[in-house]
Amino acid sequence: MKSKASLRWKIGKYLFVFAGVLIGLLFLFQVVLLEPMYKQSKMESVRSIGDEIARAIDSDQLEDVLLSTMVQNDACVMIKYGGSAAEVTPNQACTAFSDLSTEQINGMIGFAGISRNRTYMTVRESNYYSSGGSEPFKNIFYTRIVSGKAGNAVIMISSGISPISATTKTLTVQLVYISGAILFAVLLLTFMIYRGIADPLSKITRAAKQLPQGQYCVDPSTNRYREAQELNRTLTEAAADIQKADRAKRDLLSNVSHDLRTPLTMITGYGEMMRDLPGEKTDENLQVIIDESKRLNTLVNDLLDLSRMQENKISLKQEPFDLTEMIETEMRKYDVYRYQENFRIEILTAGKAMVYGDRKRIEQVFNNFVINAINYSGTERHIIIRETIADKEVRLEVQDFGEGIPQDKIDDIWDRYYKVDKQHVRSTQGSGIGLAIAKQVLDLHHLKYGVQSKEGEGSTFWFVMPLDQEQK
Ligand code: ADP
Repeated sequence: MKSKASLRWKIGKYLFVFAGVLIGLLFLFQVVLLEPMYKQSKMESVRSIGDEIARAIDSDQLEDVLLSTMVQNDACVMIKYGGSAAEVTPNQACTAFSDLSTEQINGMIGFAGISRNRTYMTVRESNYYSSGGSEPFKNIFYTRIVSGKAGNAVIMISSGISPISATTKTLTVQLVYISGAILFAVLLLTFMIYRGIADPLSKITRAAKQLPQGQYCVDPSTNRYREAQELNRTLTEAAADIQKADRAKRDLLSNVSHDLRTPLTMITGYGEMMRDLPGEKTDENLQVIIDESKRLNTLVNDLLDLSRMQENKISLKQEPFDLTEMIETEMRKYDVYRYQENFRIEILTAGKAMVYGDRKRIEQVFNNFVINAINYSGTERHIIIRETIADKEVRLEVQDFGEGIPQDKIDDIWDRYYKVDKQHVRSTQGSGIGLAIAKQVLDLHHLKYGVQSKEGEGSTFWFVMPLDQEQK
């Protein structure tokens, strides 16, 4: 994989690009475009003075308009009526005009006369220079011909454009300082943002490397922003999960070896006894060996089953079947508990209940619930199998009145190899991973399931299957 630039360079790069754009814009507007923009705005204001005077040309307010526009805009105005050059109002002494020759003035009037909007505007250098500067003052000359009551009137306006090269120079020097300050700020910001973002990330990464060992610890106060805190929280949870899985793995090893060793010890013990003691070769002893071998077989099959299911290597063989019939058939297996071990087993079914699913797997779940109910029913020895139909669904419950499950353990019992009682007690039947298998099967069928339990009062394990509407 191509190695990526570090966060510090990324942040720095973007901030430098931003600073470059900022400085570029400042240079463009403050230095390069300053003079053209200044000239443009001056020309605009001269044009608007022209418009104002043109509107007032025949009115009594002309004098006021002339005065106010001249004062406000620092402009000279000259109006010639009827083509006579003599009638000039009011400040004919304005130097800008006096510097022009009559030919030049007439030339401007001529250009205005032939232009479409009868206006002509030009910029000329004057004979005056700024103090100490080599750049001459410039003047805008605006000429406009308007038709008034007394024939054509020529409005001539002049306004000075001060040389701004000195200003531009000052701004350039300022810009150098500003650029320096901006670049320094960028460096500082890069460092600060990097510390703010990357520091917690590096800390979390360093700590996360310890995760496979089930160790994860970062001081939460070092994470100054929410995302880092969330990442920290997620990793803390992951570490807890890893620890839990690790513990479960260890529990599994000890439980499975316990479960394997017990029948193996029995088989070896009984086998040796039968070999060494002539009178012990009885059918009963042989039956013990057969039963224990079967138990071993069940355990190994269950383990294989679960691992295959968890790797999604098992596909369901779904078909319609009658759940009620399944319950009744399966429950016959438990008659021995009724008659020999004094169990009170109530079976409350709801008539025919056609469902669609993998019968063998559903049987497996049901048997697990029943075996658990038997194993954990305590001295009560009372079990109810209840089947109810409502809203096109059939609900199957297996209830016992035994020890129950503590509330804080209830979510864990579906986990692989979880045992409420850590002191592993060998089940009368079952492999110790029954609920993990049940969960896999029910999940594969997308069924709702769960358990209600109260410590000391008993538990009810249940699942709900939709009725197969096509099968009556
Ligand atoms: P096990 O063979 O240990 O019963 P399971 O996976 O079937 O394995 O059950 C997991 C754990 O859930 C059990 O060890 C037990 O602590 C708890 N449990 C299951 N069923 C019941 C029940 N009916 N009453 C009380 N606890 C139960």
